[in-house]
Amino acid sequence: MDSSKLTVVGAGLFGAVVAHEAAERGMKVTVIDRRRHVGGRLGSYRYYDMQDAISAAFKCAGRMLD
Ligand SMILES: Cc1cc2nc3c(=O)[nH]c(=O)nc-3n(C[C@H](O)[C@H](O)[C@H](O)COP(=O)(O)OP(=O)(O)OC[C@H]3O[C@@H](n4cnc5c(N)ncnc54)[C@H](O)[C@@H]3O)c2cc1C
Repeated sequence: MDSSKLTVVGAGLFGAVVAHEAAERGMKVTVIDRRRHVGGRLGSYRYYDMQDAISAAFKCAGRMLD
């Protein structure tokens, strides 16, 4: 490939690998994804609400045992 520009639509596993390989070959790469994270179906999520719920459960259990 030459050193032209490449736009990759989708930052999932395949898009990320293609983007990486193209950049390694000197291409100017832009990656676009509809989501706010990379990894596509391999991405993970942090559920703050769930953590809040777990913290609340521990506090509640602590109060019950005091
Ligand atoms: C629970 C689970 C377990 C798995 N286990 C395995 C396993 O053991 N082995 C295995 O080989 N595979 C496994 N897979 C499958 C593996 O995750 C997928 O094959 C791989 O992630 C697909 O990568 P991809 O880049 O092709 O697609 P995706 O990961 O789907 O990425 C596509 C990206 O494109 C974006 N996109 C889509 N449309 C647009 C648009 N119009 N504009 C902008 N962005 C767009 C999406 O937001 C996404 O980020 C598993 C999947 C899951 C969910």
